[in-house]
Amino acid sequence: MHEFSIAIQLVEHVLALAAENRATRVCRVVVEAGSLQAVVPDALQLAFEAAAKGTLAEGAELDVREVAADAVCRRCQRCYQPSVTDYQCPGCGAADPKIVAGRGVVIRTVDLVTADDAGETQEGAR
Ligand SMILES: [Zn+2]
Repeated sequence: MHEFSIAIQLVEHVLALAAENRATRVCRVVVEAGSLQAVVPDALQLAFEAAAKGTLAEGAELDVREVAADAVCRRCQRCYQPSVTDYQCPGCGAADPKIVAGRGVVIRTVDLVTADDAGETQEGAR
């Protein structure tokens, strides 16, 4: 299940970012998954939830957006967007693309709650 190893890496990144920004909580993480990665968003969300358990990222919402891959044909240099099932060059039919984008899972946005957000104005004791 490769979603799980991706999720662990995501959580590590997010936690490092949270530590850098002295966040107290992670609300939302937006990631872009290259279509060639063949990530199942639901599986990734579940794996992320599990990997984030007990950390600042616990309960964070994971938003997975699939992005198309970009490839350049090694034979005719044509740029096209291959898919997992069909990666032949539409120009010359060669199945030898060089993937230039859309591989892997990339973190786009991380919404953090920092101590500052919690408000320096203290509205009485609770
Ligand atoms: Zn080609």
